[in-house]
Amino acid sequence: MYSINSAGVGLIYLALSLGLAAFVALASRQVDGQRGFAEWTLASASLALAFPLNLMQGHLPLGLAIGVSNFLFMLGWCFHYYAIRAFFGHRHPRGLCCKLPWLLALGHGLWMACLAVVIENIAARLYFFNIAGALTLAVVALAVTPPITGSLRFAARLTRWIFAAIAFLHAARVVWFAIAGTPNSVMSPIPIQIVVSIAQSLLQIAATFSFLLMQNFRLNDELREQADLDSLTGMLNRRGLDIRARRLLARAQAMESPMSIIILDIDHFKQINDTHGHPFGDLVLCWLSEKLPKLLRPNDLLGRYGGEEFVALLPEADLTIAHMVAERMRCSIAAEAPEFDGKAVRITLSLGVALAKDAGYELDACFAHADTGLYCAKNSGRNQVRYLPPSAAAATPLLAGATA
Ligand code: GH3
Ligand code: MG
Ligand code: MG
Repeated sequence: MYSINSAGVGLIYLALSLGLAAFVALASRQVDGQRGFAEWTLASASLALAFPLNLMQGHLPLGLAIGVSNFLFMLGWCFHYYAIRAFFGHRHPRGLCCKLPWLLALGHGLWMACLAVVIENIAARLYFFNIAGALTLAVVALAVTPPITGSLRFAARLTRWIFAAIAFLHAARVVWFAIAGTPNSVMSPIPIQIVVSIAQSLLQIAATFSFLLMQNFRLNDELREQADLDSLTGMLNRRGLDIRARRLLARAQAMESPMSIIILDIDHFKQINDTHGHPFGDLVLCWLSEKLPKLLRPNDLLGRYGGEEFVALLPEADLTIAHMVAERMRCSIAAEAPEFDGKAVRITLSLGVALAKDAGYELDACFAHADTGLYCAKNSGRNQVRYLPPSAAAATPLLAGATA
């Protein structure tokens, strides 16, 4: 039969934690930008060495074992804090060279060594270590600020609870010592010491997994967001627009509230490209993507549907409001003569309006109705807004989904 001793547990923990620290360091090479990987690697490596070193205090000079292990504990906790802060966008220009955690760790290590070999007070050592740990780890838990939405929320909450649990275990030890008295030796095999030490080691490892989960979910959220955005203008693209538009339509239908759709198309855009070049046309599209949102309400949805075509969805807007908004966009854009590369250009828009109710709150049918209005605006001379009632739209050959 094999029996487990503290040195064995320490070695297993050391191997596992150092392996994880290396894993975090490797993972950081795959990601652009500073997201707290360097700080977390240092924190994990510090704690990986601190636990077994602390367990070996019977086999090493006491002052050395206590001093160095406590220096590493505090360094690990502080750099967990800095890693979390970096992850949530609080930049620390000095990164790992930031003096404060090193000084705190040095002070903590020296004071603990002093309590061990100069003052020789085990009770003070146990109280000080656990109170310092509980407070520092509570601050780490509070530094985790889960976002309101997105998959990152789950991972961030998990990380926060793990740090809160480690802080709680330190605090629980303080309460236990206050009630039952402190042991004569730090290595005494009393249940609270054993259970709490093992739980803390496991939670420390769990925190690293949770941090990696946070990184993974953050990347996931960013990729999903990028997939919905147009790379030229930064507006919603067709995919992003479709997903959100379907949600808005379903809500409008459920609440039986009005909703309108406007399709906008730049007039003679090909000519602008042909005259001034494609990059010039890109500048026009970017300019328009900045102008148009300012002409809409915050709740309206706007995106680039493709090429030089934009779509706006207006919740709570009946035909009168939709017409007013479309006219506002048309007039505002036509009234300006923006300059790009020192060349002024006049831009006009043709717009087609549709009502969601007319199209049975079906996205494709809404677009088809608005498209028919747009087709009509183009055919009637451009630079105008058109709405075709369903009966007239049905009689228009382009209703089958063609785009002007
Ligand atoms: P109309 O008034 O009938 O809408 O004429 P138009 O020239 O605007 O329409 P047409 O469909 O003939 O041409 C659209 C042009 O938009 C053709 C295409 O090269 C250009 N275009 C599409 N996407 C982009 C883009 O991302 N950047 C630039 N610069 N041009 C684009
Ligand atoms: Mg056009
Ligand atoms: Mg077009």
